[in-house]
Amino acid sequence: MPTTHATRKACRITKVTAYVVGMRWRNCVFAHVHTDDGISGVGEGSLEYQPQAVAAAIDQLAARYVIGQSAFSIERLFHDMLRNEFMRGPIINSAIAAIEMAMWDIVGKALDRPVYDLLGGRVHERLPAYANAWYGAARTPAEMEAAARAVAQKGYRALKFDPFGDAGRDPAPREIREAVALVEAVRRGVGPDVDMLIDAHGRFSPGAAVDIARRLEPVELYWFEEPCDADNHGALAAVGRAMKTRLATGERCTSRFLLQSLLATNEVDVLQPDLIHVGGIMEGKKIAAIADAAYVPVSFHNPFGPVATAAAVQLDACTTNFVMQESFCEYDVEYRFDLVEHAPRPVDGHYDISDRPGLGVGEFLPDAARAHPFEPDAFLPLFKREWATRF
Ligand SMILES: [Mg+2]
Repeated sequence: MPTTHATRKACRITKVTAYVVGMRWRNCVFAHVHTDDGISGVGEGSLEYQPQAVAAAIDQLAARYVIGQSAFSIERLFHDMLRNEFMRGPIINSAIAAIEMAMWDIVGKALDRPVYDLLGGRVHERLPAYANAWYGAARTPAEMEAAARAVAQKGYRALKFDPFGDAGRDPAPREIREAVALVEAVRRGVGPDVDMLIDAHGRFSPGAAVDIARRLEPVELYWFEEPCDADNHGALAAVGRAMKTRLATGERCTSRFLLQSLLATNEVDVLQPDLIHVGGIMEGKKIAAIADAAYVPVSFHNPFGPVATAAAVQLDACTTNFVMQESFCEYDVEYRFDLVEHAPRPVDGHYDISDRPGLGVGEFLPDAARAHPFEPDAFLPLFKREWATRF
């Protein structure tokens, strides 16, 4: 009998289980999705500091939309969930993303192809990563210089950090001087050929942001990220116009619809969508294309676990306007590598692109997840002193 669409594997979803895994400064959330064809997949829905809300939303969405549907119905299920979950927002998006990534993992396993092959095929051979969370114990300029040198020696060609402590909208001159001294120390540590990325986490007023950007010009930063909060696109664009350094933003822009007015400013130089917060891989692909239409490169935000990293690697691999991948892997809890059979790990500051099927992580390992349950104190309060020591 010839194979027809009706006789191919449908991979109907039979069960969705959410896991919350305590990981030092945040809890990560995973959805383990099973099908009637015996194939299971995993997705990640980690969201800054509301893991239990996302896990509850995964359970709710599974019951409301997902059980009984084919894992191949990615576009239809996404549309169904997004429209009918009327208030949307990051919690719903992250729950959708956990399910959506797992569906891609299942589809890839059913077809025996990596996800990037299903989204247009590879356009990169190896993916440059940039290190984050490398500076947790460092406090003084000398300590930052040494820590930064160690990052460069691992092979990273870029690193990111927030030197501003718990600074608020309009820091005192001393706070600014101390931050500038830390940035200068990092430049001494890495030399002229490593790209330096500064993340202000939306701390400053536009006036303070422009003042600080100008004081940092001699250090030659690659980008200045969220110098002020990114909700007010006009205010952020005013900062972008007044500074010479590239403006990076996008990790808190959670939909392709909100992206329009952000890109219309023509002040965003690097867009940083988060594949979880936008609702998954397909939405990330669409957002990357919208950014490309404005000639803007993308660098997917990813401070989370191994499945989100694997999803980012798959999408990076097939995205022409990808520049570099944020990576916490080498500065994280070691058990992140136990949660799936094949967790991505940078080599020489780069991610190799897995050609295993699906997301390339193999099977999710629930016992390893259960060994590290929810941690109530896994939280990074960016406006309280010493937050970075939690890395
Ligand atoms: Mg950021």
